[in-house]
Amino acid sequence: MVVAAKLANLVKLYHEQKLAHVYLLETNDMAQAYQDILTIIKQINCEGDYQENCTTCNLCNLIDQGNLPSFIEIAPDGTMIKKEQVLELKKRFSYKPIYTQNNIYLIKEADKLNGTATNTMLKFIEEPSENVIGFLLTNNINNVLPTIKSRCEIINLNYEEKIADDVLAYQDVAIKYIKQTELVKVDKIMYNKSVILNDYPERADVSKIFKMIFHIYYAKYNGSEDYAFLNHLTTKDLKKRVNLLITLLDNLETNANLELLLDKYVIELSDDNG
Ligand SMILES: [Zn+2]
Repeated sequence: MVVAAKLANLVKLYHEQKLAHVYLLETNDMAQAYQDILTIIKQINCEGDYQENCTTCNLCNLIDQGNLPSFIEIAPDGTMIKKEQVLELKKRFSYKPIYTQNNIYLIKEADKLNGTATNTMLKFIEEPSENVIGFLLTNNINNVLPTIKSRCEIINLNYEEKIADDVLAYQDVAIKYIKQTELVKVDKIMYNKSVILNDYPERADVSKIFKMIFHIYYAKYNGSEDYAFLNHLTTKDLKKRVNLLITLLDNLETNANLELLLDKYVIELSDDNG
C-alpha cells in the first residue's frame, strides 16, 4: 500500500474500533511522519468533519498548541529517552482521558529508549489499558529492542518524493474513470468491462489505475484545489471513497476476480447510504 493509504487506513481502523494499542512506525522521513501522525490524531479527535488545518474546533487547536492533556509527546532528552520520561507518561495516563475518547502518546525516535526506560515502557505496554493508543516512531527499526518490537503493530512509512511514474502514467485513464462514475453515471458498471478490463486486462495495470484514482480522491480529501470536477463532493463523500479504495487496493493484491471487484466498488460507490 502507498503511505497515504496506510495513514488513511489507521483512521478507518479507529472508527471501526480495530486500532491496535501500540504502533511502531518505521520511516525514512521522521519530520513528515511526525506531521502525518499528528494529523491522524486530529482526524480521530476532531469535533467536526476534519478539514485540512482545522482551526475551528477546540481539540485540533489544543493538539496544535501541545496543550491537550490526553496527548503526550516524548522525544529524546539529550541523546536518550530516559526512564523518568516514561514514568511521567505512565503517571499521567493512569487517569482516564477527559476531553477525548483516548489517551494518546507519541514517541519520537523510539530506538533511543535507554535500558531502564525500555523496561518501564514494556510494563506500560503490557498493562492492558482500554483507552490508550501509542505511536512509536523510528528511522531504523533494527535499533529498536526486540522486546518492544514484538509487542507493536509495525507499519513502514517509506515516503517517496512523488507518485511513482508508472502510477502517474495512468492519470488520464483515472480521471476518465472518475468522471464516468461520478458525473456521467450511466453505464458505469459496463464501463469496468468494456473499457477498463478490455484495455487493461492485466491485474498489475488495473492496480496502478486504481492507485492513481486513490491519489486523486485522497488529494481532494486533504483539501487540494486540483480536480475541480470533484468539487461537489463533501468531506464525508471523499472519506467514503478513500475507504472504498483502500479496501479495493487490498483486494487487488489477492486473486479475487477483477471484474467482480471493480463492480463491487462501483455499486458501493453509488450506494448513498454507505
Ligand atoms: Zn478539528
